[in-house]
Amino acid sequence: MRINIDRDLCQGHGVCESEAPEVFAVAPKATTVTVLNEDPDQSLRPRIMAAVKYCPTHAISISEEE
Ligand code: SF4
Repeated sequence: MRINIDRDLCQGHGVCESEAPEVFAVAPKATTVTVLNEDPDQSLRPRIMAAVKYCPTHAISISEEE
């Protein structure tokens, strides 16, 4: 699983950080997210999927790797 952020869409809302702080971080006053772990463990999948779902700008997508 690989995390992809559309930087044109991300506005730094931080919803993703709330859902999965192991993976996403938004610094104070930042306008875009930092992905802490672009290839996270499968155990984090439910929280990452919540971040994808609740991101208000739909900036997060995941791609699957074989
Ligand atoms: S919730 Fe979406 S818009 Fe907000 S920081 Fe995360 S990726 Fe960016």
